[in-house]
Formats: sequence, C-alpha cells, structure tokens
Amino acid sequence: MAEANVIDSFSGRYRLLSNFYPCRIVFFGKIWPSSEHLFQALKTNDEASRRRIQCAPRPVQAKHLGRHVKLRPDWEEIKENVMRTVVQAKFQQNSNLMEKLLQTGELVLVEGNDWHDNVWGNCSCPRCKNIEGENRLGRILMDLREEFRKQRQKKEACGL
Ligand SMILES: [Zn+2]
Repeated sequence: MAEANVIDSFSGRYRLLSNFYPCRIVFFGKIWPSSEHLFQALKTNDEASRRRIQCAPRPVQAKHLGRHVKLRPDWEEIKENVMRTVVQAKFQQNSNLMEKLLQTGELVLVEGNDWHDNVWGNCSCPRCKNIEGENRLGRILMDLREEFRKQRQKKEACGL
C-alpha cells in the first residue's frame, strides 16, 4: 500500500519527474527533447550514435537506441553522476518544472515501475516485489530538490 508521504509513480500529475517528460534541454550546444534522450546519448562517445539518439522522435525510442550503443569505457563508474547532471540541467533550464519539483516539498520520491528497474527505481511486479529498489533516480531528484530549495532561499535572502 502506498503511503501518503510518498510519490511512488512518476505519472499523472507527477509525470514531469520522469525522464520521459518532454522538455527542452540545451547541452553540448545542442537541443535535446527530453532528459532521457540526453542521458542515453551520453552513454557513448560515438558521435553518429549520439545524433541518432538526439533525433529519436520519442524518449522510448531514445532508450531503445541507447541499449545498442558502444558504451564509453567508464560508463559504469560515471553513470550516476551523468544522471545527476542531466536531471539538474532539466530542472535548471525549465523553471516551470523546477517549481513543480519544489512543490513536492518533503515527499519521498520513488520511481515506481513495472519494468523491473530496481537500480534507478523500484519495480513492484510480483517477481520483484520483495526486492528493494535502489531508487537512484528518486534519490537524485530529492537531492536536487534540496539543493534548489537552498539556492532559492539564498536568493530570497538577498532580495532577488
Ligand atoms: Zn519487476
């Protein structure tokens, strides 16, 4: 049973928390149509693969393309930092989304899913039910939310 102080599905009114949420991000001087596109592209150093991912019509296609790229050799070590950088850019560059993230207050953010992702989120299918997902995306979101809130308080204290 979902607890009241937890957002455990990045859908409906909380879809903006998902990397599949369409939003414009400028990175490498290029425009990316979602944080999923950018994250998948950063998996590889191959310029042609990156371009293909950038041009994928939808985030789900970007994700599929990302499964078949030649991974950069240090990917496993850096992927969490890359995710953080990508998600940070998403919210910093889209103030309406940052506003909505801040409005989640102190709620615990969990990327609940049914596609067996227990690294970035927490899958609740019968098979994974007893596995506690690492929820790395949810943690990054909560961490950034705290950081954005502090930045805002600092600005307000300066009368900005
Ligand atoms: Zn599962």
